[in-house]
Amino acid sequence: MPLKIIICGSGIAGLSAAGFLRAKHQVTILERGTLDFTINDYGISIVSNSFNLLQKAGINAGNLDMVVMTHVWTRTPENEELKTTHFDTRARFGGAPSILVKRAKLQEELMRFATSHEFDGAPAEIVQNTKVTKVNTAAGKVWTKDGRLFEGDLIIGADGIHSVVRGAILGNQEISASVKTYDMLAFMTQISVEDLRLNPGFDYLSNPTAEAGLASAHASSGPQVNKHILVYATSPYSLQIVGYAPEREFSERFESAKTAIIKDIPSEIVAEELAPDFGEAFVNLFRHNQIDAWRIRDVVALDNWYTGKALLIGDAAHAVTPLAGQGSNMAIEDAEALGYLLRIVDSPDAVPDTLREFMSLRKDRVDFVRRRSHEIGGFQTEREKNEEPITSEEFARKIYTYQGAEKALSG
Ligand SMILES: Cc1cc2nc3c(=O)[nH]c(=O)nc-3n(C[C@H](O)[C@H](O)[C@H](O)COP(=O)(O)OP(=O)(O)OC[C@H]3O[C@@H](n4cnc5c(N)ncnc54)[C@H](O)[C@@H]3O)c2cc1C
Repeated sequence: MPLKIIICGSGIAGLSAAGFLRAKHQVTILERGTLDFTINDYGISIVSNSFNLLQKAGINAGNLDMVVMTHVWTRTPENEELKTTHFDTRARFGGAPSILVKRAKLQEELMRFATSHEFDGAPAEIVQNTKVTKVNTAAGKVWTKDGRLFEGDLIIGADGIHSVVRGAILGNQEISASVKTYDMLAFMTQISVEDLRLNPGFDYLSNPTAEAGLASAHASSGPQVNKHILVYATSPYSLQIVGYAPEREFSERFESAKTAIIKDIPSEIVAEELAPDFGEAFVNLFRHNQIDAWRIRDVVALDNWYTGKALLIGDAAHAVTPLAGQGSNMAIEDAEALGYLLRIVDSPDAVPDTLREFMSLRKDRVDFVRRRSHEIGGFQTEREKNEEPITSEEFARKIYTYQGAEKALSG
């Protein structure tokens, strides 16, 4: 008998999980918002470890408007070359490419994976504008804001960093108690490839269909300065620009507005923050654009991602800061692992053992990514400070070569 599975949230974790689970089970997704894939979303890296899993599952790269990562360009704050690293995972690991893509574009393709008749099993049902407000983990019951009750053999919390399901699993404690901030924000903006070409010094980034990747520059004006600029293609025609900086006056604004995103930041404020540490070339990329400030957060390492009939995946379980570029990748790995472990489960009685197995399979990898992200940001916990730092080679070897749950379980 297929299990009845309720997934809370249709982000990358929820849609991927629905795609990987529908072959064997009956899946319903509850999403608080309206799905709109036409928005000009931010760009993310989907690295070989998870792109490989999506490719094997039948995701069509031709639908993604993506570019393939070939390089990492490490630059000085003045945009001079420090180091150019070839980052083509097809060549380095003999496997899948790593790609840069807009998040909404990937979600649109994941929606096809979850709901189209072209894949095995019954299409998942997505119920939009349906906010989950309460979960009974023992009974497998979910209540929504409009008063409806949904019941399942398994409830998956894929409802992001402020997960209602996590609150229920952790015993209805304050949901924000497990969310951490680091006095760091990201100024986020975008530029077209055409406009980038008007800026001197960026030839290396200006033909993303041939060569694409990340340009990365760290401020170097002293040990207290934790500023970092990233520029990367998000499609053949556009680039994402990210400026990491201390929160300063934005701390108060994030707190008082109870939000993690403040929109329409004047470019002069961004320039004032970045200009003491970066040259005109990088600062100018922020001058004519619509800029948002995103608070950098993560979820502390949790001892438990499941209880009764409920399980957390993706950011709900283990949101990491974006510094190692692996948040979505971990969510996709979670989804594939769950699909693999549940493929042979045909009775609700077997669910608790599977959830235990899922967490033991996934936790070390996610903790490794969290630790690396903390090291890049310079905000390790006391325990992490006692560990040997992770080198970029070690990270690449361990994370980017992943081949899925079956291989991971066979050692
Ligand atoms: C600046 C930045 C850059 C990043 N860059 C990268 C990158 O390069 N590579 C990478 O892998 N990752 C990156 N990430 C991280 C990545 O975006 C996240 O890890 C990923 O989107 C998490 O997906 P999710 O589905 O778990 O959560 P979310 O995307 O938060 O989705 C949760 C979904 O649940 C819904 N929801 C929430 N509450 C409820 C409720 N109560 N009821 C019903 N529905 C609900 C929401 O509407 C949403 O649709 C970046 C993140 C940031 C902020």
